[in-house]
Amino acid sequence: MANKPKLAVSACLLGQKVRHNGDDAEFKMLSRKWSEHLELIPLCPEVGIGMGVPRPIIRLERKDGKIKLVNPKNGEDFTDRMLEFSEVQSDLLASSGVCGFVFKKDSPSCGVERVKVYREDNSHAARDGRGMFTTVFTTLNPHIPVIEESRMSDSKQAEHFLACVHFFHEWLITGKGGWNARKIIQFHNDNKLFLLSRASASKRMLERLIFDLFDKKVNPEFIALEYMTEAQKALNTLTSKGRITHAVERTVGQFSEKLTKDQTKKIIDLHL
Ligand code: SF4
Repeated sequence: MANKPKLAVSACLLGQKVRHNGDDAEFKMLSRKWSEHLELIPLCPEVGIGMGVPRPIIRLERKDGKIKLVNPKNGEDFTDRMLEFSEVQSDLLASSGVCGFVFKKDSPSCGVERVKVYREDNSHAARDGRGMFTTVFTTLNPHIPVIEESRMSDSKQAEHFLACVHFFHEWLITGKGGWNARKIIQFHNDNKLFLLSRASASKRMLERLIFDLFDKKVNPEFIALEYMTEAQKALNTLTSKGRITHAVERTVGQFSEKLTKDQTKKIIDLHL
């Protein structure tokens, strides 16, 4: 398929033997099935900072109120190297047109949620952290959808994430050559039903956001970025079947004069 959306992925999930013990953690559904529809871009932050394979196990530690990335065996601190690498790579990925990122669960570099953070005295690990690379990537790019591979084993979560990736891809295509007011409104109009089906309150919220920023004569590039950031935030919650059905009914309603009752029913049933 021409012009497939680009999806960054923790390299071990794509079968690369980059884990600390020289192993991989291949997520075959992604590496073998979806690779037909997506351009997959592997990245291993720990190899990226020069740790090599095999390498010592590292972990997140809370020290003087700050999170550090360290080797617990000898105390070597990788925080600065990882932060620097993450900033540069996050910017490069965003400017290369990446439409989403699938991260490896539980990793101190790549995990998205509930990653273990140890106290310095080694006594206790709270599962309240986020991998260091992921923290930087999501802070710099709150408008790009991310997910852990474990969530993608659930077909509903996988479908919703890929829909958000596709939405983002459309936004990139529309914004090629620069954003202006006409393109922003057109993009919103083209995606109204998508928003309605996935996060119904977001449609109005985004309309208000756009027109408020137009009134303030804000630069269209900034408005478009704000639009996508708020849209992805709203899309963070999984949609329900009822909302999708409602949106499909509204879409079908627009063609009611051209469709027979049977055809209308068939289309709606397809989405139930
Ligand atoms: S989880 Fe991240 S850092 Fe660890 S091996 Fe996979 S890609 Fe590399």
